[in-house]
Amino acid sequence: MASDSRLKPGELEGYRKALLFLRARLQGDLDQMTEQALHRGGEGGNGNLSTMPMHLADLGTDNYEQEFTLGLIENEQETLGEISEALARLDGGTYGICGGCGKPIAKARLQALPYTRYCIECARAHEGPSA
Ligand SMILES: [Zn+2]
Repeated sequence: MASDSRLKPGELEGYRKALLFLRARLQGDLDQMTEQALHRGGEGGNGNLSTMPMHLADLGTDNYEQEFTLGLIENEQETLGEISEALARLDGGTYGICGGCGKPIAKARLQALPYTRYCIECARAHEGPSA
């Protein structure tokens, strides 16, 4: 099973492209959200507020909205870090190998989460039984 589940160079290239695409998209999102968190409001912006859930404005607390956005930014920064590490593993030849048990990560999982470093079993062990 080991040799069969090893990723081929063409597959690795596909994951690299997916990772680079994700990274570019997240960085674009981050720039936009950081801007919104700092400036709050569409004045002078490009009018694209689709990433902001508008109903939160009804709560009337600017702080809540800002914290919400900051939370999103934190999440995305974390994901960006994961993506960088995944790209490093691609270069180092360890991409697709679980960091917990050393077994190959299922391709379906890599396709859904190309920056993951754990196989599904280890991820469950990390996140607890509720996940
Ligand atoms: Zn594992």
